[in-house]
Amino acid sequence: MNILLVFAHPEPRSLNGALRDVAVAELAGQGHAVRVSDLYAQGWKSVVDRADFPALAPGARLMPAPASGQAFAGGGLTEDVKAEQAKLLWADVLILQFPLWWYTMPAILKGWVDRVFAYGFAYGVGEHSERHWGDRFGEGTLAGKRAMLIVTAGGWGEHYAPRGVNGPIDDLLFPINHGILYYPGYEVLPAFVAYRADRLDDGGFAHVAERLRARMRTLATTPPIPYRRQNGGDYLIPSLHLRPGLDAPGTTGFALHVNGTAHEPG
Ligand code: FAD
Repeated sequence: MNILLVFAHPEPRSLNGALRDVAVAELAGQGHAVRVSDLYAQGWKSVVDRADFPALAPGARLMPAPASGQAFAGGGLTEDVKAEQAKLLWADVLILQFPLWWYTMPAILKGWVDRVFAYGFAYGVGEHSERHWGDRFGEGTLAGKRAMLIVTAGGWGEHYAPRGVNGPIDDLLFPINHGILYYPGYEVLPAFVAYRADRLDDGGFAHVAERLRARMRTLATTPPIPYRRQNGGDYLIPSLHLRPGLDAPGTTGFALHVNGTAHEPG
């Protein structure tokens, strides 16, 4: 398989850097073709602004979504964005790796999403009408591919359990897994999360590295999180409400959009 790992940590000698090397070595050893987008090393521009749309007339009001769509359709996105989109089309599997900062991804990675997931590429795809609300949530440009997160967190696993003070990790990662990855079509694998990352000793690292190698060996076979497809009949259109009766009684929030229980591998 072709695998793209997007890496968002400023320090190559970090724990994240070491885990990236573990993942890449394991994948290469399995015979996969691996490419890494190292966002800090590339000096990735993380904000959307006028410079992203060179064809926009000076003085014209910048409306990011239409500007993105026009630039994508006309081949006018910047070269750094086009290069990342080409890597996404090349890759069978996308891995986003980052330390959890303020309960989400570092700004540089969010900026990669904001700029690379352009209108017409990752959103604004397919018929959009009262009958069909776009090709998204299980359909879209990146359908047929897989994606997963590799995350390190300072907090303990217990702090991210269903009754933990930080909130459940599946809820915290839902906006990324569902809103960013499932949206343009990826099948999303359960995240790999390394907890208590700030105090990891050599023994702890060896354990985390072995868990990560196991996940890298099963990228093709790990069952994805069973998110409901928007256009698969589970949702009323155009309200996009889940049809009554599909969920277990009492289910609320993000869990409504998972058809069954996500399996957490190793
Ligand atoms: P590093 O600092 O590079 O290393 C962590 C430990 O791993 C060190 O003790 C290091 O010695 C050890 N280690 C063991 N083996 C190796 C090896 N082979 N190579 C390198 N290091 C090794 N945590 C949360 O849980 N929730 C949050 O919301 C949150 N928000 C944060 C916000 C900010 C702005 C910051 C800076 C941190 C936040 N954290 C949070 C903590 C953060 O998630 C961790 O600091 C991070 O995940 C640790 O990963 P790292 O790669 O930066 O680790």
